[in-house]
Amino acid sequence: MVSNSKNIALLVGVAVVSSAVTWGLTKSLSGTSGNETLLEVAEPTVVEAVEPAPAEVSPALADGLKATYWAQRSAEYEATVEALYDLARKNLDEALEDPTWSAYDGGTGDFADKPPAVILDVDETVLNHAELQAWGLMPGNRISRKTLYEFFDEANSPAIKPALAFTKYAASKGVKVFYVTNRLAPAEEATRRNLEKHGFPIDDSMDTVLLKEEKEEWTSKKETRWAHIAQDYRILLLIGDNLGDVAEGIYDTPEARLAIVEDNRDAFGKTRIVIPNPLYGSFEGAAYGFNYGKPDTEKVADMVSQMDIWVPKVEEEEAAE
Ligand SMILES: [Mg+2]
Repeated sequence: MVSNSKNIALLVGVAVVSSAVTWGLTKSLSGTSGNETLLEVAEPTVVEAVEPAPAEVSPALADGLKATYWAQRSAEYEATVEALYDLARKNLDEALEDPTWSAYDGGTGDFADKPPAVILDVDETVLNHAELQAWGLMPGNRISRKTLYEFFDEANSPAIKPALAFTKYAASKGVKVFYVTNRLAPAEEATRRNLEKHGFPIDDSMDTVLLKEEKEEWTSKKETRWAHIAQDYRILLLIGDNLGDVAEGIYDTPEARLAIVEDNRDAFGKTRIVIPNPLYGSFEGAAYGFNYGKPDTEKVADMVSQMDIWVPKVEEEEAAE
């Protein structure tokens, strides 16, 4: 097994040789920065080319391109999300028939006589904002809080169609649909506008779009908002692309986060449904201790150092010589 420091060096070496201008070693799409969703992209780093080469995206950036393309254009993404929302619909039917079914009650055990509700995250769960991330991948662009909220304010994010069908189905069954998002409170009007544009069910008689910091205790950790809803509703399902959309205690090490899934395998796919999002999320922050201010090169090193990386035998033999 070759040390990961060697693999990091190899990664850097590839970027240097192949690019006259390397746009950093990676793009970093973070799920939360402090208390907000932010997308961080490495500053361009001009390096000496070993041999003349056309400007091109670095290999690491190309991975970001593939993830964004996959979420925006691939049939595989569409098929995966369709399957998951189909599962959600079947689970919803089962939950409505089972008075003991609860995704979250705040530990009270008090839900049997309450009307049913489902809770969904917004970004990459019901709305797709890969378009913003695609902009962020282009040379010279850097997504900041300003661009993020300008994008939100336009309210033009496409609907994730299976999510739209699911929420309409839930509403048709008398299930209250709540949207719990870590977009900040000032984005509420635009978020509602975007959801309403597609016909997502929104209750006019009460607030069912709950943003971060609408109330002081509504932090990035969504449990306080689940507890708020659970006071009056039986929560049947939690659906989201980020582990924090469906589980507590997620701001921890990668191992601890995996243990959350390992210890609750019965819940995942039943009361908790995770929608794939390879673009950004707390999975990435966990890789570098949620230290979003770290230089991008260190974030890359942290992530690479945790990966199992195959090494061809030929290389090992050459290294031994
Ligand atoms: Mg999300």
